[in-house]
Formats: sequence, C-alpha cells, structure tokens
Amino acid sequence: MIAVGVGASRGCPAAELAALVDAGLHAAGVRGADVRVLASADVKAREPAVLALAAARGWPLRTFAAGALAAVDVPTPSATVARHVGTPSVAEASALLAVAPAELLVAKQRSAHATCAIARGATGRPPASRDDSISYGEIHSSLDAPDGLDAPDGLDAPTVTGPSAIVYAATADCKGCGACLMTCPERALRPSPAWFDGPPLLTLVDLCTGCGECLEVCPADAFVALAPEEAPWPA
Ligand code: SF4
Ligand code: SF4
Repeated sequence: MIAVGVGASRGCPAAELAALVDAGLHAAGVRGADVRVLASADVKAREPAVLALAAARGWPLRTFAAGALAAVDVPTPSATVARHVGTPSVAEASALLAVAPAELLVAKQRSAHATCAIARGATGRPPASRDDSISYGEIHSSLDAPDGLDAPDGLDAPTVTGPSAIVYAATADCKGCGACLMTCPERALRPSPAWFDGPPLLTLVDLCTGCGECLEVCPADAFVALAPEEAPWPA
C-alpha cells in the first residue's frame, strides 16, 4: 500500500505539485495506479493544489492534525515548517501515518512551493483521519508544550507564505491564564517548550490571521503586533 504525502505553500501551482509527486513516484519505482492515499496536514485540506491532485488522480485525501504529525519520527524535520503549521514534518509524517506501520520509499523532496514523500505500508485499508488536536482545556490548565515542539532543528523547509502581514505574539508579560488559547479562532497559539527562554506562548504564523481577538481577551495586555518573521520562536 503506497501513500503520497504532500505539503504545499498557500497558492502553490497545481502543476508544480503534480510534477513533484510524479518525480517522487518515479524515484520510488511506483505507478500512480498503486497509490492508495494522498496525505497531508489538516491545514492543507483545502489547498487548491492538493485538492486538484487528489481529484485528477482519483486518490482519496487523508489529512491529519498537527499534533498527530508531530509525533511521527521522520528523517528530515524542519523548524520552519513547525513554526508555520505546528509540526516539523508534513509530507513525510503524513505519508507514514496514512499507511502505518510504514517505511519511507522516498524521503522529502522539495520544489519552490511544495514537498512530497512516498511511503509503503502494510496491506489493508488506510486509517481514517484522527483528531489529535490539542485540547484547549489541557493547555489552559497546564501550559505544557505539545509533542514535537522541541524536535525540529533548523533543517530544510519549503517556502511557506503566511496569510497575514501582521501577526500577534505574546510577550513575557503573559501571566499564563490561557484565555487567548481558548479564544483564538485559528488555534494559532501554542505553549512554548519548557526549555525555551522566551515568551510562554508561541504563534504559528501561517495560521494567525491577525484578527486581534487574543489581544482583546488578554488581561495582561501581553500581545504585540509583529511581522511574521519577527514572531519569537525557539532557535
Ligand atoms: S490571555 Fe494574555 S496572560 Fe492569558 S495566556 Fe494569553 S497572553 Fe498570557
Ligand atoms: S491575532 Fe487572531 S488568529 Fe492570530 S493568534 Fe491572535 S486570536 Fe489567533
């Protein structure tokens, strides 16, 4: 059973993603007819290039929450991808997870706006998407770091374009009340890892729309508006 895992920047051309996937299949020695599932992250479930690929090839699309993807051990994690979508891997992790237990036939391949990885799993039906989203209630009570947040270490990443020219990020004035975590409509805020010597909350800049709702509910006036590249993130 073959799974194709993909990541795509916002607005990635469909032809670019298709060409990258075809190159990956060729490298794996796999035919398109052998593919059983196209996999990605939940945040890419409505990306036009991903949907176009699934429709054109007749592959079912399975997407996974960032928390589920972050728990998958992959050979090429990316700190930049984690910064944008909350998991250090999309293509490799989603391919492996879609047909788990599985092995990678082709590790992450990159083009200007997309990534692709090919995995082979045991025979059987691909699993349904799992909702492993972070529980806001748990975060509210503990502010623990989610799995995988401390995993990436500055490796290659695709170009990812954030949706907003301005994002909101917490400062050291944060008191840890958790109100913003429950309020953010995009679920763009995450607790910092315990070892991070910075603000206790991090903003996933690819999800933040700059709506300012976190700013409005914060009793500590702890949010500041920043350009996405200025938002704090562990080195
Ligand atoms: S609402 Fe303000 S004080 Fe409360 S967790 Fe968010 S940033 Fe921190
Ligand atoms: S500005 Fe809006 S989307 Fe961004 S972190 Fe705050 S509440 Fe979430």
